[in-house]
Amino acid sequence: MEPVILSNIPFNVNIELLMKRIRLKKDNSHADDFRHLVEEAQAIARPKAMYRPVYIESKDDDHVVLEGVSLKSRILKVNLENAYRVFPFVTTCGMELEDWARAKEDMLLRFWAERIKETALHSAIGLFNKYVSEEFSIEKKSTMTPGSLEDWPIEEQRALFEIVGNTKDAIGVELTESLMMKPVHSVSGILFPTEVNFESCQLCQREKCPGRRAPYDEDLYDRRYSK
Ligand code: SF4
Repeated sequence: MEPVILSNIPFNVNIELLMKRIRLKKDNSHADDFRHLVEEAQAIARPKAMYRPVYIESKDDDHVVLEGVSLKSRILKVNLENAYRVFPFVTTCGMELEDWARAKEDMLLRFWAERIKETALHSAIGLFNKYVSEEFSIEKKSTMTPGSLEDWPIEEQRALFEIVGNTKDAIGVELTESLMMKPVHSVSGILFPTEVNFESCQLCQREKCPGRRAPYDEDLYDRRYSK
């Protein structure tokens, strides 16, 4: 199937919540500067997502083939055991905010602008998840991202981008030679329907990770993924 582009993603910042997150009190003398910055960002932000509904062509012990492209990951293969159609995707805060933030010379404004970009990325991820769930009547789903686990390393970004399509022209996201995404506030991965909830964090031992979404489960790999 052809790639789908979501470019009309609403971006409404909950200013009070974001101020709490960055520990900026309402009565701080910089609070109005922050509000002004958010208004500026909201006027230009265009968070986006691009995904491609694809059927699984084949699987073996630790490979899955989509659109003629082989992805190497034992965990991905097991997670897709009962799936027949999956959704490789790239979501982003958008180049509009990237360029806007880069032009800020003041360190504090730059820091705030980065947090606003994160919020825009979350808007894109949220809308993409909602859209795919509704469009394809998916009740339970999980995602996997190349580079989040040793089993599916960052090098697999090349294959993932090959499947999704020309993200640079469509949504402005470029995969660099060092396999970073530009804008950096972008997330790529595969969304898949599943009855068994999966988070990479369950298999990740990194301590004190601010992004942790689930506790580390030291037996999970042996229980579910070992051959
Ligand atoms: S714990 Fe942190 S580093 Fe590990 S997979 Fe989760 S978010 Fe990524």
